[in-house]
Amino acid sequence: MVDPLLSVKNLMSGYGDIQILWGVDFHINEGEAVCLVGANGAGKSTLLRTLSGLLRVRSGQIAFMGQDLTNRSPRQVLSHGIVHVPEGRRLFGPMSVLDNLLTGAYLRTDRANIRHDLERMLDLFPILAERRHQAAGTLSGGEQQMCAIARGIMSKPKLLMIDELSLGLAPKMVDHLGEALQKVKREGLSLLLVEQDVATAFELTGRGIVLDSGRVSLIGPTEELSINPMVQQAYMGIA
Ligand code: ATP
Repeated sequence: MVDPLLSVKNLMSGYGDIQILWGVDFHINEGEAVCLVGANGAGKSTLLRTLSGLLRVRSGQIAFMGQDLTNRSPRQVLSHGIVHVPEGRRLFGPMSVLDNLLTGAYLRTDRANIRHDLERMLDLFPILAERRHQAAGTLSGGEQQMCAIARGIMSKPKLLMIDELSLGLAPKMVDHLGEALQKVKREGLSLLLVEQDVATAFELTGRGIVLDSGRVSLIGPTEELSINPMVQQAYMGIA
């Protein structure tokens, strides 16, 4: 059997005295798109922060492409191919779209390919090409999300983790983002999406993880989760 791309075992983490994650187990296979859903405060962002090295692992293990990444620094995690697009996007507002995209590549050593990847991102998101010289802070929310995702992909990750993909965005913008993500997935990128709109999350991914009070309560194919009455009632507003 092929090893998973990412394997998370019995992960515990939190903030100061407060423990948020209580033994989280899951894996992501190479080329897979997985969503992480759950109520507000369930620990979804905390899980992404722990995976990306921003929060300490209290116990448990994170393995990625056969390497132990438990308690590595954010820079080391990034250099191994996991990129985190945080909630709120965190672009450099006064800097141009192009310069923001280039900051995504700052750890890369294959300088010659960076230009090519930049062009690829501008093809993927034509609106960013139009606005390439504009300050990122002046973009619309959806354009900023595109810029943040493109910046993430500029680091040449194997796994792209996006926190709150669609929050505050118009449905049409979410469709554009969804199409772009399907495209990069077809090119081999694996995805972990945190998404408050569970129906959208299930449309964009093949497998879902339901987090409940810092524990995994369900994992399965999204086509099964989307017809699970418990999931429908708790997370999709279907009585
Ligand atoms: P949401 O959709 O509301 O962001 P979430 O599932 O992403 O939900 P988290 O943001 O991971 O949830 O928060 C999980 C818990 O951790 C919450 O109870 C939250 O109050 C707490 N928490 C988050 N950030 C911090 C922090 N910096 N310090 C202390 N507690 C925090």
